[in-house]
Amino acid sequence: MAYDGFGPRIPAKHTSVLVMIDCRDGTHALADATQPQLHVTDLAATRGDGVFEAMLARDGVPCKPEAHLHRLQASAQAAELLDPGAPAWRDAIATALRASGPWPEALVKLVLSRGPEGSDTSTAWVLVSDCSEQHDAARRDGIDVLLLDRGYDSTLNTRAPWLMMGAKTLSYAVNMAAMRHARRNGADDVIFTSSDGHILEGPTSSVVIASHREGRVLLQTPPSACGILAGTTQALLFDAAQCLGWRTETTMLAPADIYAAEGAWLVSSIRLAAPINRLDGRELPRSQALNQQVLALLDVHPA
Ligand code: PLP
Repeated sequence: MAYDGFGPRIPAKHTSVLVMIDCRDGTHALADATQPQLHVTDLAATRGDGVFEAMLARDGVPCKPEAHLHRLQASAQAAELLDPGAPAWRDAIATALRASGPWPEALVKLVLSRGPEGSDTSTAWVLVSDCSEQHDAARRDGIDVLLLDRGYDSTLNTRAPWLMMGAKTLSYAVNMAAMRHARRNGADDVIFTSSDGHILEGPTSSVVIASHREGRVLLQTPPSACGILAGTTQALLFDAAQCLGWRTETTMLAPADIYAAEGAWLVSSIRLAAPINRLDGRELPRSQALNQQVLALLDVHPA
């Protein structure tokens, strides 16, 4: 893509591209991602007080940007954050992608923080980084997953809206700790369960299972009302599956449903779909054909 001459041309081959947004007027400017940009009192850094989105761009084109902007706006509203608004985000994303390298796949991260302590404006930025080939093996060969107790029941969300469970907040330290626990125990990823025994989500993904019913494929996922993030990839997958005549269902799931399924995936915007090979060390049935179909629905060609 051609560079539009806006600001300094920064990216070398693998350098991330940063665009900072001025939340007061919605304007933006390229900045140097290799240099410090945040104030030490920024509440994103000191309290994890902010929201974010992570979207994929393929060959410089953002994937389902409106779904991400819609969720970002909902998260910002839940956290009562000053949001520069969708047009400002769209312009900043376009500038960042124009200035980025010719990457087949890039991670486009949108971050909105409450800003420096005592200031009356948010901090917002778009960071684009090369992630080509990073997830090919997981998509193709699958992952091993541990079930971990999330420590709350599946109705907490309805009782405690102040927990902002459906918002994509920056507070991911627990999610990252769960991933490290999985890796220490020889697995690649995690599915959280509720204390009342239901499947919730992965630390950075939604859970989808597939089985054949009455001659058609049935895809199932848990409802976001049980306190999980409404996944944009799961929604896209279900829409595409319905166009093929597959059935889709949002329903409470238990670990037994995953063991009984013909296929199970962790789906998310950047890795897209990673088939689960083993759950808590127990082998899951895996259909290569179903995996190819799920990846094709997300428009990925397994490498
Ligand atoms: N659940 C959590 C906790 C996540 O962090 C993510 C993505 O990062 C997802 C689900 C999947 O959401 P999406 O498909 O929109 O990337």
